Amino acid sequence: MNGTLYYSVRMHASIGSKHLSGAERLVTTTVLDRAVSELVSRALSKRVAPDQITVTIDCLGAGRPRILKSLDVTMMPGDDYRAARIAASKVLREIGVSDIPINLALDLLSRGAAPSRQNMRGAILMDGLTGGRLEPDQERGVRATRFDWTPEADHLIRTKLAGYGLSHFRTREALALATKVVHGPGVIAELCWSDDPDYTAGYVASRSKGYVRFSFLKQAGNNRGGRVLFIDHQMSSIQRLVDYLQNEAVLIDCPDR
Ligand code: AMP
Repeated sequence: MNGTLYYSVRMHASIGSKHLSGAERLVTTTVLDRAVSELVSRALSKRVAPDQITVTIDCLGAGRPRILKSLDVTMMPGDDYRAARIAASKVLREIGVSDIPINLALDLLSRGAAPSRQNMRGAILMDGLTGGRLEPDQERGVRATRFDWTPEADHLIRTKLAGYGLSHFRTREALALATKVVHGPGVIAELCWSDDPDYTAGYVASRSKGYVRFSFLKQAGNNRGGRVLFIDHQMSSIQRLVDYLQNEAVLIDCPDR
């Protein structure tokens, strides 16, 4: 065989037409079966059993994925989600996002960002100056796929995050996703909090500030969440960004390796 083959593995679990869980991996042939089995276990670990689990495997060929250094992590403790949202807004403002999009993003993520008032499966793309919605499908959003930690960094990042008391798989995955998306053409920053009612943490990410993690960006028990990518007002081709998010394979390395 010529060179190492890379595979994108995507899991999506649902109940009826309702999304239950999803996750992505980018792996080589040798660990493909393990990655599939871990994703299926993940789908089965929810409080309710899915009635459909779809695992999609795409061979991306032998081209080596682009390597990006992981964003640095800054911790913002505190259990008051209102204070944390004010602090997150300040970080976004410092990065260069205007007030209108910041407030709109907070409002959308709080109440269900899709026109149907449900959580979206993907991210909102929002003009960082005007707050205009730029994603082609506002119900679904745009999903970032084809990213993962390098095998070496996967081990290191677990140890590093455990040092901050962060051993939840969500943090590791969110840090990888944030690293990929903020390197997208035209992306200024990302705001995220989970729709998992048991997971209250969220973050603001950007190339300049890194990954700024807030322990509480929402109240426990709240099942509303999502992701907003703030886009440079001058960005002329949203399609180029969508292509990058959906198709470009990226592996994330640790900064201190
Ligand atoms: P999670 O952190 O998995 O709870 O996801 C929180 C929200 O982020 C979801 O409701 C989606 O709106 C969005 N999201 C999840 N995964 C992705 C992804 N791969 N790309 C873009 N947006 C995502």
